[in-house]
Amino acid sequence: MRYSAFRLFTEALRGNRGWQPAWRDAAPRRAYDAVIVGGGGHGLATAYYLAKVHGLRDIAVLEKGWIGGGNIGRNTTIIRSNYLLPGNTPFYEWSLKLWEGLEQDINYNAMVSQRGVLNLHHNDAQRDANVRRGNAMRLQGVDAELLDAQDVRRMLPFLDFDNARFPIRGGLLQPRGGTVRHDAVAWGYARAADRLGVDIIQNCEVTGFRIQGGAVTGVETTRGPIAARKVGLACAGNSSRVAALAGLKLPIESHVLQAFVTEGLKPLIPGVITFGAGHFYISQSDKGGLVFGGDIDGYNSYAQRGNLATVEDVCEGGMALMPMIGRARLLRSWGGIMDMSMDGSPIIDHTPVEGLYLNAGWCYGGFKATPGSGWCFAHLMARDEHHPVATAYRLDRFAAGRVIDEKGQGPHPNRH
Ligand SMILES: Cc1cc2nc3c(=O)[nH]c(=O)nc-3n(C[C@H](O)[C@H](O)[C@H](O)COP(=O)(O)OP(=O)(O)OC[C@H]3O[C@@H](n4cnc5c(N)ncnc54)[C@H](O)[C@@H]3O)c2cc1C
Repeated sequence: MRYSAFRLFTEALRGNRGWQPAWRDAAPRRAYDAVIVGGGGHGLATAYYLAKVHGLRDIAVLEKGWIGGGNIGRNTTIIRSNYLLPGNTPFYEWSLKLWEGLEQDINYNAMVSQRGVLNLHHNDAQRDANVRRGNAMRLQGVDAELLDAQDVRRMLPFLDFDNARFPIRGGLLQPRGGTVRHDAVAWGYARAADRLGVDIIQNCEVTGFRIQGGAVTGVETTRGPIAARKVGLACAGNSSRVAALAGLKLPIESHVLQAFVTEGLKPLIPGVITFGAGHFYISQSDKGGLVFGGDIDGYNSYAQRGNLATVEDVCEGGMALMPMIGRARLLRSWGGIMDMSMDGSPIIDHTPVEGLYLNAGWCYGGFKATPGSGWCFAHLMARDEHHPVATAYRLDRFAAGRVIDEKGQGPHPNRH
């Protein structure tokens, strides 16, 4: 069934009785050509591009819970490609270009909204860093505009410009950045992959790997063994635990990241804003809620909820940036488990086990990467070679010292 304005109109006249389930509730078969572990955004996008771009048809996505229950349905929905380092910029720009055509491609309204992402600066050193980043972006063909304090004041008059500690001096704007409705991305990819014959199997946890002579031959699951020549891991937050089932130790720690949403308010924030003097980012959803977040909770955890100390820290950031947020009532908060890598950048690579591929370590930034990650991981799995925009995301870069440390924080996952 294709979705269209005409279909909406005719279904409205027929009492909406003609809609079909968006994807089949597939039961696992005994064997597939390729199996993807993890039905989050990255796993579903990979399955879709494997089928669409590389012509594979015999594919299963195995999800231990339900589609959209992981970080793909928990994030703060920000997309952007305002990176500095050459290992990152081409990849994230490719991902942003895929977002720009995604809804037409998968025939699904994911509410892609290029409303702009503004990184504020509060002192001369931060301005210089923003100038450098903006120039690097423009040199690599990415849009970037430097704003001074007056430009920002015209755009966002409600910010606290004259804060004695953190006066706003300007910001770096990426107009093509913005937000996308997060869980719609999972549903849209699931539906599009299903239409190409991919089996999407929920409530099916991978509990082990079948490995013979150094090559993967299949997976063990809570719904029985499944044979496969190629297995791709895309289980963000749980990557190290799942990889350990295949005998692999990953350079990744798991941490909780929390997010918050207020009651619905009238339109106030036109785009995404990030505070430069603390870790705080905010946008406004189409329903009117202010959606915001900050730092990860600093300890290792697999719980999908965090601590009050971080809630306080994030809210302090909000109050310093825009004190009137103190009058908005907080409606909900939640947490997701983050794969924090040692340099803050992801991994899309082979593993030492033949036929077993790894997509992991997305840290704070994996939502914006969803289309690009799926595209490049599918390329790797189908052709056994890295996609040109993702050549830097090797697993051996930590041993070789070729780290991609965008923030210059060193090997401290909790700081990236
Ligand atoms: C609060 C929060 C805010 C964020 N904000 C942003 C943002 O604004 N912008 C941005 O770019 N990124 C953001 N992120 C990061 C982003 O959400 C993640 O990096 C990205 O979604 C991870 O990829 P995924 O969608 O595939 O993960 P997930 O949706 O978590 O998918 C992984 C799936 O693997 C499944 N799984 C795990 N183990 C197994 C197993 N053994 N067998 C079968 N299935 C298994 C899980 O159940 C899960 O569904 C945020 C994250 C959080 C938590």
